[in-house]
Amino acid sequence: MKKEILGIKAPKKTCTDQKCPFHGQLNVKKELVKGKVIKKDVNHSATIEWDYSIPVPKYERYEIRRSRLRVHNPPCLDAQVGQQVLVAKTRPLSKTKTHVIIQIIEEGKTK
Ligand SMILES: [Zn+2]
Repeated sequence: MKKEILGIKAPKKTCTDQKCPFHGQLNVKKELVKGKVIKKDVNHSATIEWDYSIPVPKYERYEIRRSRLRVHNPPCLDAQVGQQVLVAKTRPLSKTKTHVIIQIIEEGKTK
């Protein structure tokens, strides 16, 4: 078991998932993406989405684009729909998944 990955501490909960970066045999690459969980499946999968803007020189404004990614959701983290998560690239985990959630970003603590 690893205590931390890329400076991120392991969650308090433990799990027996082989595809968990903290408790299983999975190495992550230093390629990170932040996004919001918009869909969650029973088989430890989730879909994340994020917006980004690119400049349009002709109109001197920014265009907002949106990306989606299928990610692995380890049972020890268990990200819920609506949460902001940090995702790292890893080896191909299934046909559509090559990323894994490594942190749930706590936001709006003043709520
Ligand atoms: Zn785990």
